[in-house]
Amino acid sequence: MLKPKSEEEIEVLRKSSLLVGKTLGEVAKYIEPGVQTKKLDRIADEFIRDHGAVPGFKGYGGFPGSLCISVNDTVVHGIPDERVLKDGDIVSIDCGTIIEGYYGDSAYTFAVGEIAEEVQKLLYRTQQALYRGVEKAVAGNRVGDISHAVQSYIEQFGYGIVRELVGHGVGKQMHEKPEIPNYGRQGTGAKFPDGLVICVEPMINLGTKDIMQESDGWTIRTADHKPSAHYELEVAVRKEKVDVLTSYKEVEEVLNKKN
Ligand code: MG
Ligand code: MG
Repeated sequence: MLKPKSEEEIEVLRKSSLLVGKTLGEVAKYIEPGVQTKKLDRIADEFIRDHGAVPGFKGYGGFPGSLCISVNDTVVHGIPDERVLKDGDIVSIDCGTIIEGYYGDSAYTFAVGEIAEEVQKLLYRTQQALYRGVEKAVAGNRVGDISHAVQSYIEQFGYGIVRELVGHGVGKQMHEKPEIPNYGRQGTGAKFPDGLVICVEPMINLGTKDIMQESDGWTIRTADHKPSAHYELEVAVRKEKVDVLTSYKEVEEVLNKKN
C-alpha cells in the first residue's frame, strides 16, 4: 500500500515544486551558445537560496552540483563544469529544491541555438510522452498505466526508452515508493491512492535504449552517443484529475521571448 500525503504536505510540495519551475525559468534565460554549464549551476544555486530554499541535489549522495546538467548524449546526472554549450546542442536541466523538508524535483530539455530537426522532434515527443504519463496519475489507476502511456506513445517513433532509471514517489525523501518505469503493462503494479505525490520523468534516446555510466560515478550517457531527452514533472494524484505541482510557465515565457 502506498502512503498518500496530507493536504498540508501537498501544499508544501507545491511550493517546492513551483520554485523548481521558477528556477528552470531563470536558468533558461542564460541558455545560449558560449555559456559554461557551471555558470548555469551557480545561477540556480543563488536563485534557490534567495527564495529561502535549499538546493535539493547539492551533496545528495555526494553530488557536487545544484543542478544536473546533461548535454547531448548525456541522459541524466551530468555534473556542471567548464563545458561550454554550443549551437546545436541540447541540454537537460534537472533541478531539486527543499522547502520545509519537502522536495521539489523537475527537469526540462532545452535547445541551444538551432538544433537538427530530428532532435527537435525527440524533444517535442518526449514532452508529449510526459503529459500522456502525467494524465494517468489519477486515484485508482496503477503504476503500469503511466508506464504504458509513455511506452505506447514513444515506441512508434523507434526511440529507445531508458530502462535503468525511472520516476518515483517524492516527499521528505527525493526518492520514495513507488518506482515508475517508462515502460510496462496497463493495469499492473501498485494502485495509486488519492494524495500520492510522484515524479513522472521519461528519459528517451534518439537511438538505442542502452546506457553507460562514466567513471565519475554520475554521468549517464547513451551507449551509441546519440542524443537523449528528459522531462520531469512533480504531480499529486487526485480522484478526478491529476494536480500538476510543478509549472513550466516561467520556462515557456522565456522560450517564447527568445523565439
Ligand atoms: Mg529530477
Ligand atoms: Mg526525479
